[in-house]
Amino acid sequence: MQRIFFLGTGAALPSISQDNSSLLVESNDVLMMIDCSGSPFRKLLRIGADPAKLKHILITHHHIDHISGLPSLVECLWIKGRTEPLHIYALPAAMRVIEVLLDLWDLRSRPIKEFPIVLHTIEGNQDELVIEEPAFTLRTTPTLHAVPSVASRIIFPDGQTLVYSSDTASTPVFLEFARGADYLMMECTFCDEETELAGITFHLTSATFSEIASQVQARHTLLIHHSEQMSCSHADLAREITETHGFKGKFSIPKDLESIVIE
Ligand SMILES: [Zn+2]
Ligand SMILES: [Zn+2]
Repeated sequence: MQRIFFLGTGAALPSISQDNSSLLVESNDVLMMIDCSGSPFRKLLRIGADPAKLKHILITHHHIDHISGLPSLVECLWIKGRTEPLHIYALPAAMRVIEVLLDLWDLRSRPIKEFPIVLHTIEGNQDELVIEEPAFTLRTTPTLHAVPSVASRIIFPDGQTLVYSSDTASTPVFLEFARGADYLMMECTFCDEETELAGITFHLTSATFSEIASQVQARHTLLIHHSEQMSCSHADLAREITETHGFKGKFSIPKDLESIVIE
């Protein structure tokens, strides 16, 4: 089974229904988390995933809404008696924060039953090969955001691809990276009237989201990292994307703890 679970779909300000953005990729019984927000161990239990199968964690960048759950997750895995290695991938700037967070609670040096935490620093090259294993391949490319961040492309064993922007402004590099995606998942933090704020904070708006989605023409386009508490309603945002800016493809805004099957 190839599936994506939406552990969180909101932007930096969570609400009753939306936590900060975080995803779980499942393929051939291997789990990879992309970003780590809220109470990640509990979310794995709520979607019925076995935390022991979590092998990889990609941290796209070190903004607090994408990284704050990591120490808690590692602590919970330790209490649960994990022995298998946990692989964590991040750019140098995010990796420095990860090391500080882990060492703040001595999470890399437990006196008993320690499990290996293997840190893999992403160099930040375009279309960089980060993970290659039978369950999937992961490639990343740098994006334009307030801090260094990466977009990711997951290639499943049947050849299907999912591209996820994480937080970014619109760039030609991201557009090229996204071309050919079967599933395109992008952030859309702001609506039209927040265009100036989007420029200052390096995020997509309904206009830039629609423009990229129209050019890529993925079979399914998904929108995350939009919080109704920070911006307009999902319905108004969707109306801007499809009516004002004319995106015609299959498009959805998933809810927290939902999933889609990649088929
Ligand atoms: Zn964010
Ligand atoms: Zn960010």
